[in-house]
Formats: sequence, structure tokens, C-alpha cells
Amino acid sequence: MSVYGDACDMKKGTVFRNVNDSTGDPPINGWGWIELWENKTGLKRGKCCVCGDDTALMVGGHIVLGSGNSYGDASTKTSSLFGGNRVFIAPICSSCNGKAGIFRSVFSTRIVHLCGYGVDSRFDEGKYSYAHPELSLDELRTAIAREQVAYDGYLYQTYNKQRALHGRDQQILDMAVPSLASVSSRRY
Ligand SMILES: [Zn+2]
Repeated sequence: MSVYGDACDMKKGTVFRNVNDSTGDPPINGWGWIELWENKTGLKRGKCCVCGDDTALMVGGHIVLGSGNSYGDASTKTSSLFGGNRVFIAPICSSCNGKAGIFRSVFSTRIVHLCGYGVDSRFDEGKYSYAHPELSLDELRTAIAREQVAYDGYLYQTYNKQRALHGRDQQILDMAVPSLASVSSRRY
């Protein structure tokens, strides 16, 4: 899932990569990733920040910041990202979402910072009821509500401390420069 999603600014020219094989990340609140992105950023889906296409099908892409060539840059391997706070959701089209390589955002936008990447935040009611056959339906409902609150508290305790950006990611977001394409068309 990824438990908490705060939004942060990503400047035009910011370097990033797709996470390999992020399909196993359980969604937050049942939202699609582009819906999560819209809900957390207050923006509407439009152009892809990789290719600039505004007609393509948009999905929320799982990304990590940086080229991978500098010390502290996150890995793109989903296994090494699991449970951590290095993954973000960016507005990417379904075509670019499947590409490997190093990208630069073609415009400034916002991205959603995920914490607890890949962790399933859903309390499994079916499993709980199966484990407690002695409870009546009313008792089960009460118990599940109580367990859900406890589980939410556990997730909050566990992942809330991750909310701060990793130092390297903060550095990348701070230092992003306009892409080469825009340098030639803009004066400073
Ligand atoms: Zn694209």
C-alpha cells in the first residue's frame, strides 16, 4: 500500500526512474494510483510528466528520484524498496510507465510521497472472522471494528516516522534544474 501519502513539489527537469515491478503494491483505500495522486495533490490528470502526451491513458507511476548513479539514490528494485519511504507516485502515461531508463520531468508538478511501500494496510476481516468462529455476527462486527482501529494505530506508529523525505530525495527535489530542451527556449 504504502500507508501515508503526502504531496511534494517536483520541478521541471527533476531526474527519476520507474520502480521495477510495482504491480504488487496494494492500493490505498481502494483508489487507483492516479486517483490517489489527484486526491493527494489536488491536481487533475492531464499530461504525462515523462513524454508530455496529453491524450494517453494516465496512470499513477511508482517512481524513485535520481539517476541511480549518485550516492544515496534509491534502487529501482521493488524488493529493496519494500516498507521504506523512497517511492513516489507521479502522473505518467501507461506507455511510459512500462519503460526503464532515466527520465526528466517535462514540467513542474506534484508527486505523492509513499511511506511503507508495498505494505498492505488493509485489515483482513475475512481472515479475522475465520479465526474467531465462536463469535456471533454482532460480536464479530464489534471485534473487527476494534481490531481495525488497533491496526490503524499500529500502521500509524510504524510508518508515521517515515514521513520525512530521505535526505537524498530532498536534495534531488531541491536541486532539479530545467531540462535541456527548456534551457534553449528560456533566458535567465
Ligand atoms: Zn508518457
